[in-house]
Amino acid sequence: MICRLCGSQQVFASKNVASPHFEVEYTLHECRDCSSAFFDIEQHQVDLEKLYADVATSKADIYEGPFKPSRYWQHETALIRRYAKVPIQSVLDVGCRTGDFLKHWPADIRRVGVELSTRSAEVARSRGLVIHQGYLEKTEFDQSFDAVTCYAVIEHLTNPITFIGRLARLVNPGGVLAIMVPTKECLKRRLIDAIGKRWHMYCPPQHLNFISRTFLDQSFSSSDFELQLRRFTSGGMFNPLGAIPIADKIGARLMEINDRHGPLNFLPIFDHMYSYYRFKK
Ligand SMILES: [Zn+2]
Repeated sequence: MICRLCGSQQVFASKNVASPHFEVEYTLHECRDCSSAFFDIEQHQVDLEKLYADVATSKADIYEGPFKPSRYWQHETALIRRYAKVPIQSVLDVGCRTGDFLKHWPADIRRVGVELSTRSAEVARSRGLVIHQGYLEKTEFDQSFDAVTCYAVIEHLTNPITFIGRLARLVNPGGVLAIMVPTKECLKRRLIDAIGKRWHMYCPPQHLNFISRTFLDQSFSSSDFELQLRRFTSGGMFNPLGAIPIADKIGARLMEINDRHGPLNFLPIFDHMYSYYRFKK
């Protein structure tokens, strides 16, 4: 087995993980050279298209109500503005779902999304956004963007390298590329492994790649991108006081503040890893 990220042959099978979607187990392959890990989609014959069609049509996943701004995404737009060397006039969100993040940018800038799910793309268009329905690799753009964002997408891809290259080429000079992926290089995953449970991000064949910090930084530094910030959040999936009925709201609020402003989010404790790169040229 060759590392599907860096191409190294220093790959070992670290464990078997039961799929939460199908009655099969997948081998987790880890790379000694780049510290990334991956599942091999070819290990079992499964209907991936049907799996995603089921996910995309599940009502719970598609919010169609009026736009509700969130502090989480407001903070994200502020970070992108902070690290850009140019005023943000255009934003591309790849995997934009119903356009919630794009709606946090003012209507007078170019707000463009790419979305695979037909239904989510329709909802996003009805909210006044420009949406390309389909694969990023097959989409043509007439201009590049001051900000390119990609949240919770790369872990799903069978060919992440081509995709990452395409993302990088869409950023304007002085612009920012923001990427969020689940990271296994964090305390939460290590603790879950230590007690013998399944980390929920290990959900083959939906999640296929666990890209390391090293690999991500090397990919972008070679194409003139500079890392500006890295932070780790719980993604709203952890509440230290969740088991105490009268305190759970306080716990959720504390985590929300920590996810945005720290002090803990610069340490690899939680499993949502955000990286912000600026295009130097
Ligand atoms: Zn590797």
